[in-house]
Amino acid sequence: MQSHHLRRLLVTEPSLRHTASATAVGRVAHAARLRSVVARLARVEHAPLLVTETRASVRDGLHRERLVLDSPLRGPFPGTLLAPPGVTRGPAVLVLGGRNARLDQLTGDVPPDHPDRNVAEHLARAGFVTLSFDHGIGGGLDEERRAGRDEGTLLAHAFALTGRSLLGALVGDALGALDVLAAHPLVDPGRLGLFGHSLGAAVALHAALLAPREALPLCAASHLGSYQALYARLLTGHEGAALPGILEYADLADLYSALAPAPLQLQYGTADAHLEPADARAAADTVRAAFAAAGAPVEIHELAMGHGTHVGHAANFFARSLAGDAVTACDVPAQRIRFEVSERRAVLDRVDAALASGVLTQGPQVARFEELARTWTGTETVAVASGSAALEIALRIVGVAGRTVLVPVNTFFATAASAVRAGAAVRFVDIEPDGLGMDPDALRAALDRHPDTAVVLPVHIGGIVSPALHAVLAHCHERGVPVVEDAAHAFGATLDGRPAGSFGRFGAFSFFPTKVAVSGDGGLLSAALPDDLEQVRRWRDHGKSAQGSTLRDRPGGNWRLSELHAAVGTVDLERFANTLAARRERAGRYDALLADVPGIRPHAVPDGSDSNFYKYLAHLVPDGALDRTPLKKRLRERHGVSLAGEVYDHLLCDHPYFTRSGRPGRADGPFERARRFARHHIALPLYPSLTEAEQLRVVAALRSELP
Ligand SMILES: *Cc1c(COP(=O)(O)O)cnc(C)c1O
Repeated sequence: MQSHHLRRLLVTEPSLRHTASATAVGRVAHAARLRSVVARLARVEHAPLLVTETRASVRDGLHRERLVLDSPLRGPFPGTLLAPPGVTRGPAVLVLGGRNARLDQLTGDVPPDHPDRNVAEHLARAGFVTLSFDHGIGGGLDEERRAGRDEGTLLAHAFALTGRSLLGALVGDALGALDVLAAHPLVDPGRLGLFGHSLGAAVALHAALLAPREALPLCAASHLGSYQALYARLLTGHEGAALPGILEYADLADLYSALAPAPLQLQYGTADAHLEPADARAAADTVRAAFAAAGAPVEIHELAMGHGTHVGHAANFFARSLAGDAVTACDVPAQRIRFEVSERRAVLDRVDAALASGVLTQGPQVARFEELARTWTGTETVAVASGSAALEIALRIVGVAGRTVLVPVNTFFATAASAVRAGAAVRFVDIEPDGLGMDPDALRAALDRHPDTAVVLPVHIGGIVSPALHAVLAHCHERGVPVVEDAAHAFGATLDGRPAGSFGRFGAFSFFPTKVAVSGDGGLLSAALPDDLEQVRRWRDHGKSAQGSTLRDRPGGNWRLSELHAAVGTVDLERFANTLAARRERAGRYDALLADVPGIRPHAVPDGSDSNFYKYLAHLVPDGALDRTPLKKRLRERHGVSLAGEVYDHLLCDHPYFTRSGRPGRADGPFERARRFARHHIALPLYPSLTEAEQLRVVAALRSELP
């Protein structure tokens, strides 16, 4: 009866399997989707392991360090690092033993009960630094009260109650141990591998799927087959070896397949009582096919062994995959948008609430988004569909049709295009070099030239609200011209303690993914006057003549923000204080690191202005010494460092749209200061998840490529 239930339960066809695509792009997307499912189910929070104790010795020619590792989730547990004699910055393998493996046997500190139990010692003798630790899932609970029940199972149940999993906890520790290994002075952090046997192979597989390093080589022994065979037919599956919920998405072979094209070796024995040879063979075929489709090699050894490891094959695999030029450290991308698992769950809960209620747009999530945003804008806000919608609505409310709007010549196309869509003629103004804002003198000249100016539209470039804004506001005030701030870069930035967006009649913000706060797509208008805010609400909703009315009195649009976007936006705004602090801290670190690097000068944020560091800007000096495009290419190709996009590489007056006849082009030019800035600045990668090691790498790369 029970076996019948078990079999029926486990016949679920993994849903993601069928969406696996034959195209390369499809495969990559599929693997990424599977990794994100694994991350969500494993719920590993990124929290480093602390090494609280180290005792070093040399025995039998191996350097040995006994460590105490402190895990935030599971507390302290012992680990052992082994190193071959004389190694400096050598390749290293994290060795994860099976469920009943004992640390002192893995490392050869006591004689192993099987000749392949001391894998860590074998690999150390083969030339690899190894780190192993005790899983700590047995041997602590009161035997009498356990009444014969398994400790691992009891632990797994407790984890399940908290929405976490035992496997997730083990994987979290393995990822922490990888960081410990990478930071060890004897280890080359670019050459790391993972070995796992049985339960340890399950941990290693999931760690490989979740490790931020690219293409981590994995050798997995005695852990292959279908979940159905392991859990229903053989009853050898262990609760610490699979993620609760995984079968809805993937079987074991799909998880190995998602590692392609990373180096992979699988070993299984035909005399292993924990698996069925035919079932393991079928899983092996699935993995082989996936690697073949990705054009990548995979090593699969079917061996005449029991539930063991062929240590020779493992050592050879790592010798090949961690050879001198292997690099597993990841590149530093221009941009990284990261939501931790708990934040992703919060988004999903809110999306779920929206779907359950049927309110999919302009409901409670949007209201909450507007409320959270208020903390950073200083005035009331109304959410809209995008930053450009925000600009267009503000300009339509002020009324610019048939008149001139003055825009800085150095800004994103959307600033000017929104004015064009609102019916205005756009004219350009040069910038001032300190705060990168509109130059007040150039503005005054432009106002003289264009007495029909309806709006002045300053932009806070890179997240800096320029102190020159005060003079800009004064000129506009004198002539009675309203100011709309394009604060798309500047959410959370301030000038003299006042938030960006609170200086003009309107402040327009964007929550596009590249900006400092994101909602997928989204925008926001801040304004002090209640009537202005009310007008925004009508424009964004097809020009309603009044709340609740079906009559329309203006050509409004669909400029609403959906509840689903607001679900993302609210989660991002709830963490925004941390985002801002993290950006500022990283900017400060770049300032210090770059102080003695010749050929580059960080852009100094003027006194009184508190940037959100949407961009970390620096000038290549002296002007013209170096061409930016080849520099960026060398940084990327030789050092794996991608710079962020400039703000901006082309002036607006040079875009084909504006150089066409009848458009302003360079008419109010020559815009020398903006042109000099556009040509000679770069933007370094800066985001909250950028690590100190990555910043060091960026600066080292610059140092070696600058003249
Ligand atoms: C991003 C951006 C916009 C437009 O925002 P969207 O949300 O993409 O419409 C407008 N102005 C500037 C300066 C921007 O950087």
